[in-house]
Amino acid sequence: MEKPMKKPIQVTKSSMPEFEEYIHEIKDIWDSRWLTNMGVKHRKLQEKLAKYLNVENVILFSNGHLALESAIAALELKGEVITTPFTFVSTTHAIVRNGLRPVFCDISQADYTIDTDKLESLITENTCAIVPVHVYGNICNIKDIDRIAKKYNLKVIYDAAHAFGVTVEGQGVASFGDISMFSFHATKVFHTIEGGAVTFKDKTLNEKINALKNFGITGAESVEYIAGNAKMNEFQAAMGICNLRNLDNEINKRRLIVERYRERLHGIDGIKLVQPQAGVNSNYAYFPIVFSGRALIRDDIFDRLKAQGIFARKYFYPLTNTFECYRYQYDAESTPIARYISERVLTLPLYADLEFDDVDRICNIIINRV
Ligand SMILES: *Cc1c(COP(=O)(O)O)cnc(C)c1O
Repeated sequence: MEKPMKKPIQVTKSSMPEFEEYIHEIKDIWDSRWLTNMGVKHRKLQEKLAKYLNVENVILFSNGHLALESAIAALELKGEVITTPFTFVSTTHAIVRNGLRPVFCDISQADYTIDTDKLESLITENTCAIVPVHVYGNICNIKDIDRIAKKYNLKVIYDAAHAFGVTVEGQGVASFGDISMFSFHATKVFHTIEGGAVTFKDKTLNEKINALKNFGITGAESVEYIAGNAKMNEFQAAMGICNLRNLDNEINKRRLIVERYRERLHGIDGIKLVQPQAGVNSNYAYFPIVFSGRALIRDDIFDRLKAQGIFARKYFYPLTNTFECYRYQYDAESTPIARYISERVLTLPLYADLEFDDVDRICNIIINRV
């Protein structure tokens, strides 16, 4: 008889509260029969998030993508937006679906966020905004982006989907730029099953962004904007309230797993790990490794892991500017570092209760092949 296969290891596994904790949290929804449209749970989560992220303005959404799309819409931009192709396709779609033209800037070798040394040369008289991405929870070069945005009078909207709870020299990531978007998708460090939020400085945006997630409705008999529906419901909010309670503990467990990976994989020829950024308190959202050896080695290792029931992720691959819907409009050769990294990166399984034994097993398979 063959040995039974070990249980498959997915790249991630959603954090969940104890069953009883969630049931307790949703109990009063049965009494109120208020299921969505900014009810008690929604308000409670919003307040807790404002505190956790240390910001005044936070608005919840049904998902991160619509949060980003609405944030961009709220600023009423026209023209070109500088962004990167090394991201989830949502970032690019949110720009294009607002009638704006993305201009792709390359990424930095060190942390895979937008290369601010190359950013300025892409600015034209049509540039209206920058949409940088805090990739894997690595924080963009905030200071340079701020300086450039001020100099050219550009808006900055961060895709902070990967960076929930991260701080830089004690300052929360939600306070950077004009607006930041967070995703609370089930696969993210903090989640509400599906969900998202925007945070922003200018409190006069509150009414508008709230309207943009609710058909543009601004009063009982008034609709001032043409918008869709992106409201977070009460069950999502309740999941968020529970998960937020347990979050620091979850992040701490992730930290231990990342430390184990680093211990096993650092200093190995052909493997590059991202150096932790100075002053940054990470959320340990992802564990990317980049293979610097022979061509196609990433794909080879991906397949070997898969054969053992271990599912890593080619993330981000392909680049967003090479997808079918964008392929003939943009040139992936103009972002060579993004291209190089996307062809060689693998994010390894990472979640709070991943076992050290499994981490070791994954590392052994990799070390034996590089
Ligand atoms: C997850 C993610 C999004 C989209 O968020 P959803 O909540 O899934 O809609 C956008 N950008 C990045 C970088 C993401 O990882």
